[in-house]
Amino acid sequence: MQFPQALEAVLQTLERMRDEGAHRPCASRQSLEALQHVEIAETHTALSPKLIDAAGSASPPKDEKIGKLAAVNERVCACVKCPNLANSRTQTVFGVGNPDADLMFIGEAPGADEDAQGEPFVGRAGQLLTRIIKAMGFAREEVYIANILKCRPDTPGSPYGNRPPTPREMQTCRPYLMEQIEIIKPKVIVALGAVAVEGLLGTRAPMRELRGRWDTFNGTPLMVTYHPAYLLRNQSPSEKRKVWEDMMQVMDRLEKPISEKQRSYFL
Ligand code: SF4
Repeated sequence: MQFPQALEAVLQTLERMRDEGAHRPCASRQSLEALQHVEIAETHTALSPKLIDAAGSASPPKDEKIGKLAAVNERVCACVKCPNLANSRTQTVFGVGNPDADLMFIGEAPGADEDAQGEPFVGRAGQLLTRIIKAMGFAREEVYIANILKCRPDTPGSPYGNRPPTPREMQTCRPYLMEQIEIIKPKVIVALGAVAVEGLLGTRAPMRELRGRWDTFNGTPLMVTYHPAYLLRNQSPSEKRKVWEDMMQVMDRLEKPISEKQRSYFL
């Protein structure tokens, strides 16, 4: 058994013992998360001492980020912390894009299309997100896109439809996203929709109160905007304009020029 799988097995056993309460192990959630970070460093020590030499710099080399993300993805692929989701998923959906991205979009969870293709935001909402990204002057490959949950929330009795992740599922999967953010170190995060905000910030509120405001996530500026699926349900230009105004704030923060044509979208 490879080290990442062995560590995953130990973590899962400890968490199960803690959750079942029969023999409570002396391992706090913080300790478990710290263990996961130790795994990354040790994996890379074994792979390449040069990578460790470079670690700790403000902006690690892209190759190092690729390696670290691959190590996390390996653990995600083997993850069965949510047994019902591990049983029902076609595959895990880790994230896609530039490991060195300045801009990271975070949604809630894979849907049926994403579960089938193994990539986040590939359905109709994803296609709309790609158009928004292009309107901002980025290629989809330039940014990084991920979800709070790496497995599609199951819909027992029906192969169709999607459901939002539960708070427990989000809490269970969140450490993987934390690692992704820590590795990528984006300059700006965009949270897509109220569920993503709850997963990231633990805040529950109507989107009309959350969107368009700067928040921070572990020191990284975070903009909240509507999920593209909302725009598919509500096609009014005023709602599209709100999302676009949020994205212009993001462009401004990233010091990306905004043309007059861009400024007048959806007016
Ligand atoms: S949702 Fe996340 S924590 Fe749950 S089984 Fe999938 S990868 Fe593991």
